[in-house]
Amino acid sequence: MRELLIPAADLLLGAQCPGCGRPALTVCRTCGDAISPDPVVTWPEPCPAMLRRPERVPPVAAGANADVLRRVLVAWKEAGNTRLTSVLDHLLAAAVIEHARPGIAVALVPVPTSRRSRRERGCDLVDELARSAGRLLRQVGVDTRVVQSLAPARATADQVGLGAAERARNLHGAFRLRTDRHLADRDVVVVDDILTTGATVSEAVRALSAARRRPVGIAVVAATPRIPTNIPEHRS
Ligand SMILES: [Zn+2]
Repeated sequence: MRELLIPAADLLLGAQCPGCGRPALTVCRTCGDAISPDPVVTWPEPCPAMLRRPERVPPVAAGANADVLRRVLVAWKEAGNTRLTSVLDHLLAAAVIEHARPGIAVALVPVPTSRRSRRERGCDLVDELARSAGRLLRQVGVDTRVVQSLAPARATADQVGLGAAERARNLHGAFRLRTDRHLADRDVVVVDDILTTGATVSEAVRALSAARRRPVGIAVVAATPRIPTNIPEHRS
């Protein structure tokens, strides 16, 4: 019955799959397959030094911020389709699992959302995504707790349109430790939705490291593919 009812409701309400635009209440099966998690370690280039030293804090992305996944993320983040949290949480959970060690509990620390963006969106999307992913992880036996350890230390400019160096400058010292409760005896994983230059997660790692709670890794839904440049890179 549900199989018949949902397409009928879709047509009636004009709901569309955010991935392909076809009538659907949420992500259609084809697009769902296209964005199934494929977690890989994705270092931003250039990589912020804070992610390399003293210990490496590898970022794992469940997919690339392109094509279907990019359109789903835009619908979730910019168009306020919060129903998509229950699609994207699987991707975040898959990225977190890459950092999990047998028998060690995990603390997910979401990057703090600015007051401005919380006001604009009416909620803290990354926090809700982390909580939803945490529930999935507990269901599969990973002892997971979401801890809002970080808070904005000051107002920052919107990151959109800024280059890597400008983003890093804009964010340096932007986060502070709010609490380290529940972090002891857990592997700390910083979580965010999209990894671009790594400036945001790097600042989160800095604030946690300063409080001697250096994360073991970073987990994101998607990493933004870099635009190739002709500038030769010197790799160390
Ligand atoms: Zn679709």
